[in-house]
Amino acid sequence: MPNPPHEPYELTVLNPATEEVIATVPGATADDVDRAVRRAAAAQRTWAALAPGDRARTLRRFAAVVDAHVPELAALEVREAGHTLGNARWEAGNVRDLLDYAAGGVERLMGRQIPVPGGLDVTLLEPLGVVGVIAPWNFPLPIAAWGTAPALAAGNAVLLKPAETTPLTALRLAELGLEAGLPEYLFQVLPGAGSVAGDALVTHPGVAKIVFTGSTAVGKSIMAKCADRLKRVTLELGGKSPNIVFADADLEAAAASAPMSFLDNSGQDCCARTRILVQESVHDRFLDLLAPAVHAVRVGDPADEDTQMGPLISRAQRDRVRGYVPADHPGIRGRCPDGPGFWFPPTVLTDLAPDAPVAVEEVFGPVAVVLPFRDEEDAVRLANATEYGLSGSVWTRDVGRALRVCGAVAAGNLSVNSHSSVRYWTPFGGFKQSGLGRELGPDALAAFTETKNVFLSTEV
Ligand code: NAD
Repeated sequence: MPNPPHEPYELTVLNPATEEVIATVPGATADDVDRAVRRAAAAQRTWAALAPGDRARTLRRFAAVVDAHVPELAALEVREAGHTLGNARWEAGNVRDLLDYAAGGVERLMGRQIPVPGGLDVTLLEPLGVVGVIAPWNFPLPIAAWGTAPALAAGNAVLLKPAETTPLTALRLAELGLEAGLPEYLFQVLPGAGSVAGDALVTHPGVAKIVFTGSTAVGKSIMAKCADRLKRVTLELGGKSPNIVFADADLEAAAASAPMSFLDNSGQDCCARTRILVQESVHDRFLDLLAPAVHAVRVGDPADEDTQMGPLISRAQRDRVRGYVPADHPGIRGRCPDGPGFWFPPTVLTDLAPDAPVAVEEVFGPVAVVLPFRDEEDAVRLANATEYGLSGSVWTRDVGRALRVCGAVAAGNLSVNSHSSVRYWTPFGGFKQSGLGRELGPDALAAFTETKNVFLSTEV
């Protein structure tokens, strides 16, 4: 049952590895969102009026305070999101790096001077005002910071709505921001239901832009609502990314790296390489190499230093993943703990029709499919045969082929002989139904500005 927008309610936060309740948090109502927008608008005006160097210094202090709290934030991420300790430490460090990188952009956020007759023409990059960031549960800390850090650096206020299941790290981040000297109400966290707090942000006339990461269905509904006011929107949505392995590739390396390319974060990763496309002539050999690599992945207590894969976020997510995996289907199955916790084993399915739902839909769990292809043309056709276009990997020793295939695959983030796709200083975003706009990289701050053109006549 959706919450009525004006009634008080609570969020219950579980540890997904044990199913224990670790916190209850008051949920933001539509009235809370309205109050927050008004306060944020006032704080934004003061913030935008500061000298760029002062804004940059405050953000660097925020980065330093986050750095001093990496162990605490990481421990919280392990408890509320079930992330492995190694990943959670990286994620907290990523927030620090995003803040540092954005701080470096404040004094470099420059417009242009364009030659015109009869005067001087300059462009100004002005902040948008109040920005709403709606974050998902799969990477609660980094994705919150992807939007928040550049938006603040460009002179905006930020209202962050974390996912229902993972509000705790976001709430702590807001406290650390205040400790670092951010003006009160400039960065506020509004934990709450998507249909209440999220919807109130999307429809509030005082919010200038929505940055959303989550499912394609919700992203589309948000875009439609934003259209009503021509509200700016960035969407980072789902993925079903290919990992294309050609016969001439270093097969050992390709097979050794394939498991963590879809099992990292238990597969709850929009960039997960869940469609392993293998050239027919090496298909069986690749599977022989892949099976031991999948079995070797250490699944268990996410707080254990050695663990590579933890649980799924919730019972609902596990039921959803289970629904995609027929019990007796051929493939490779790893092991996972039984007992409490939302566990699902590493799973690779073979012998599937290329258009089977599990082969084209986003499962968001530790499940990949292996599909054979004939030649380069067939590989590209299969790689593009989903509605998504977020990421992808190409394994080959032929440089020309690598470049041709990267050119032909309709996706925003490709890697050759590697599965890397996300760095805070390179752009990230999707083609097709995977999203709209780009985050991160050198243009991140500009995405939180409006360009104003000013002409000064020299004739008068
Ligand atoms: P979701 O899209 O429902 O939720 C993402 C965020 O949007 C949450 O903060 C949620 O509270 C908020 N939200 C939900 N409905 C809203 C609304 N009407 N208005 C404003 N905000 C709203 O995702 P989910 O239900 O948590 O996950 C479902 C599936 O979505 C997953 O299984 C996965 O396939 C996909 N997903 C993708 C990503 C990604 O990074 N691309 C992240 C999360 C989920």
